[in-house]
Amino acid sequence: VDRPRPLVAGNWKMNGLRASAKVLGEIQAGYTAALKSKVDLAICPPATLVGSFAVLSVGSRVAIGGQDCHAKESGAYTGEISAEMLADAGATYVLAGHSERRQYNGEKDADVAAKAAAAQRAGLTAIVCVGETKAEREAGRTLNVVRKQLRGSIPADSTSQNLVVAYEPVWAIGTGLTPTAADVAEVHAAIREELRRLVGKAEQSRVRILYGGSVKPSNAAELMAVDNVDGALVGGASLIAADFLGIAGAY
Ligand code: PEP
Repeated sequence: VDRPRPLVAGNWKMNGLRASAKVLGEIQAGYTAALKSKVDLAICPPATLVGSFAVLSVGSRVAIGGQDCHAKESGAYTGEISAEMLADAGATYVLAGHSERRQYNGEKDADVAAKAAAAQRAGLTAIVCVGETKAEREAGRTLNVVRKQLRGSIPADSTSQNLVVAYEPVWAIGTGLTPTAADVAEVHAAIREELRRLVGKAEQSRVRILYGGSVKPSNAAELMAVDNVDGALVGGASLIAADFLGIAGAY
């Protein structure tokens, strides 16, 4: 089985002003031919920067993504942004069901599935995020929780072109804590197995499964070497070009 080409995606969360184009420029400058031959890069800035970053990224091959989208294409939904709008602004990816959206905005699996389907309808690749809480891990429920989230959050007929899965243990996000390589291997293998049911035998091996949660240059090589880890979703460290590039360089 040929391993999918890895993707390292940065989630800037609610960080970044126009001046942050400097960081994007540093990332583009450091995305050397050697790195390009090994790994795809994407940055998901706040929605206010998606359009300008997409313009700045033309020709650089650093893809731009949104952090969330509405399920509908347009309409009376004040404050919302549709997947079609992100695509029109030049995005090619969008996160769906990040744990912060699940936690602070009450997004349930069905909402995440609707958003991911909207992303795919608009021609974007949905990065569907799943992961257990600390209490769920301690109760030995990790695999069941992740499988249930996948079944509920991944749209029917997803393909390796329009779906990426990100495994992000909630307790590892922004905490400096990471699961062991063995724990990551166990969950990623279970995700691959579940994908076989959800997207079919032919496609499942090509869907990229990212690990996310406190990835930094110093732990990236160990995490990225784990079976079925096809890249990283990076929060805090993606705000610093050298750190983001250091993680990408772990491949
Ligand atoms: C994230 O928010 O997706 C994330 C992984 O954050 P951090 O890298 O800061 O833990």
